[in-house]
Amino acid sequence: MSADSQGYEEVNYIKYLEQRVRELELEVGHLRGLIAKYKEDIEYYKSQIDKLLAPPLIEATFIQLLPDRRAIVKSSTGPTLIVHILDSVDISKLRPGTPVALNQRGSTIVDILPQREDPYVKAMEVVEKPKTRYIDIGGLNEQVKELREVVELPLRSPELFKAMGIEPPKGVLLYGPPGCGKTLLARAVAGESNATFIRLVASELAQKFIGEGARLVRELFSLARRKAPAIVLIDEIDAIGAKRLDVGTTGEREIHRTLTQLLAELDGFDPLDRVKVIATTNRIDILDPALLRPGRFDKLIEVPPPDLRGRVEIFKVHTRKMPLHKDVDLFILAVKTEGATGADIKAICTEAGLNAIRNGQRVVTMEDFDNAIARVLKKRFRPYTHTSSSSSKQRQSSLWM
Ligand code: ATP
Repeated sequence: MSADSQGYEEVNYIKYLEQRVRELELEVGHLRGLIAKYKEDIEYYKSQIDKLLAPPLIEATFIQLLPDRRAIVKSSTGPTLIVHILDSVDISKLRPGTPVALNQRGSTIVDILPQREDPYVKAMEVVEKPKTRYIDIGGLNEQVKELREVVELPLRSPELFKAMGIEPPKGVLLYGPPGCGKTLLARAVAGESNATFIRLVASELAQKFIGEGARLVRELFSLARRKAPAIVLIDEIDAIGAKRLDVGTTGEREIHRTLTQLLAELDGFDPLDRVKVIATTNRIDILDPALLRPGRFDKLIEVPPPDLRGRVEIFKVHTRKMPLHKDVDLFILAVKTEGATGADIKAICTEAGLNAIRNGQRVVTMEDFDNAIARVLKKRFRPYTHTSSSSSKQRQSSLWM
């Protein structure tokens, strides 16, 4: 290669390098512009986050995830809302029932809150050793006797049943009008048997999210086995155990699934497992016969409203610790409270005591009781006017009298 042509190539190469330098300088300038813009964006988004996180936040419960980082939540202020989910919130941690914080406008989930309580524990009442005893029950002697045989005895001495080659009933159904002592009986039999008392209100099961009711039933029985000897009380079983007329809606199907799970659990455990199930209802007439089959709730015990003698006994229980004036006659009080339930009598005694306190007395007089009876029974026998649960119970109880 000649010296001329070599010089020519060098010049070209230098030109090329100069061109690259200019191009890269241009690119650097462009990138600097971009960096400045991105920095501005970062500041803007940070200020947005600060704004969204600024208190006061609204507490809500996560219900369901929707596409595009949106969700259905139930706000603690009442309404069910569709909201956005902030990018910094980890979607994988959102489960039905998770408490979340919404921004102050209630439009975005900005944080996941810690669970306040285990939802299972919240739905159940667990008492290791209830203090209630049979002496806390007025009347109902027959019912106590039956419960001792079918619940207390198998829990305390399962070997007696094994030796006889017989199986005690697995489940007991207590039925009768509200306020006449069904829950009290179950609590007392648990107390006297030194058993853990686990109570669940069936209407709680009926309100759960899809699949939650059945899961709760499973959890209930596994908890009972862990805590054995245990008595499981399912209050208001008609909420999940009513006859199936139609399982058309999602809610009805869900209740049906919960009932099926309950039946499967009942079928699955041994009658001498040291777990006894007691259910209560005010509406035995609407119960699904599947619940009453042998091996399920096959022992039925009626808990009727107290008769005259029963009312005297209930007055005795609830006035046991009250300083009574000598004019107080419990028999006359029982005569005057025809149609009253145990819960009414308890309310009457409390009201009479309050009356005495209001008047600055040291003892409770017959007049205090008379005023209390007028007040409590007037409220109790008031005609049914609206659909609150207590009123509907009131209406149901009148069907029994
Ligand atoms: P519900 O169907 O509304 O659950 P229930 O039949 O389970 O009603 P309980 O909850 O046991 O009624 O009764 C309510 C309260 O009334 C009891 O805590 C107790 O103080 C009082 N009571 C009811 N019956 C009796 C009774 N026989 N002896 C003493 N107290 C009673």
